[in-house]
Amino acid sequence: MAHLNEHYLKLKAGYLFPEIARRVRQFSEEDPEQGKSLVRCGIGDVTEALPPAVIEAMHRAIDELASRETFRGYGPEQGYEFLRHAIAENEYRKRSIDIAEDEIFVSDGSKCDCGNILDIFSHQNRIAVVDPVYPVYVDTNVMVGHTGPADPSGAYEGLVYLPCTKNNGFVPEIPSERVDLVYLCFPNNPTGSVATRGQLECWVNYALSAGAIIFYDAAYESYITEPEIPHSIYEIPGALECAIEFRSFSKNGGFTGVRCGFTVLSKSLMALTSGGKKKALHPLWNRRFSTKFNGVGYPVQRGAQAIYSQVGQAQVRSLIGHYLGNAQILAESMRSTGLEVFGGRNAPYIWVAAPTGYSSWQVFDKLLRDVQVVITPGVGFGVQGEGYFRVSAFNSRENAEEAARRFKKVRW
Ligand SMILES: *Cc1c(COP(=O)(O)O)cnc(C)c1O
Repeated sequence: MAHLNEHYLKLKAGYLFPEIARRVRQFSEEDPEQGKSLVRCGIGDVTEALPPAVIEAMHRAIDELASRETFRGYGPEQGYEFLRHAIAENEYRKRSIDIAEDEIFVSDGSKCDCGNILDIFSHQNRIAVVDPVYPVYVDTNVMVGHTGPADPSGAYEGLVYLPCTKNNGFVPEIPSERVDLVYLCFPNNPTGSVATRGQLECWVNYALSAGAIIFYDAAYESYITEPEIPHSIYEIPGALECAIEFRSFSKNGGFTGVRCGFTVLSKSLMALTSGGKKKALHPLWNRRFSTKFNGVGYPVQRGAQAIYSQVGQAQVRSLIGHYLGNAQILAESMRSTGLEVFGGRNAPYIWVAAPTGYSSWQVFDKLLRDVQVVITPGVGFGVQGEGYFRVSAFNSRENAEEAARRFKKVRW
């Protein structure tokens, strides 16, 4: 009989969102009237329609595919030149970052890339993740066998957890032990925190001196409103030699259902062979792409390109403005009841400290029962998330305002 990959058996069976769904279902069954008036602030998915510039570009692309003369079959696995060029120009060269078109790999989203990148690394690396964490970083390492089993708190043996707490402003400190791969995500999901230039400089300098590589997830880059906060890790000198950047059109262009993102991997990024020789990672990632992937759909890439047009940029700014407006309304309502509120200024997430005496899940249950608002318990993202909850600003304005009214009514 065939053998299965036993590392999968170590995974904590997708606990957080199924448990939220279970409690919401149970509440709605016990109290169908109240169940109808739920406002969901738990979701990490966009709610508003695609920008019109994207829609037009995708329609045009579909029409091209409709006639033999302009039809396209397989495209380049790494993405069409028109999109790689638009990305290099608009995301990097405009910020004086020297990235070539062929250092950009267009993909079907950054969740996939964050997992797939492990293909080109050895199993010997010591891996650091932040706590609270976007679960994809952890679970993909479990799946390929980089960890032991999880302890009762859900922490996996073999991973280095970097606490992100109120004391460090939810930006992890440099680890005291040696690590080889580090996952950083700014603006952060779930805490909504951002890293300053100085903090990123510390990380880049650490990585350069330790020979470590930073996996930098900047999916929420376009939510940055404060001018001094870096949008790309490559704004920090030396980062091309020690960081891989993951980007996505999901949260700026609303592409969560369309699927497009990209990875940036510089030709100057090196890692060691088991014999101790330094070799470039770029050819490996390129090889992985051309062997295991056949490129993103042509209409989708045209849609992504349209995000960089002048109208596209304006439409994206207005989408982001909408979500950040929601974030302000939600944050303000919770502040007014005396809660301590973080994030929400450069990110679509608000991270709220539970009132004294409440655990994450107790807050969840109280908000569900008292005001029928669904949030995400912080502990679902890691041990350090206990005592916090995440409120998502991805919603209609109407729903955000309704949730805000209800938050104000809660008596803690
Ligand atoms: C939403 C999100 C992404 C984007 O994933 P896609 O696969 O591109 O949709 C990446 N990282 C984090 C932390 C996210 O929250």
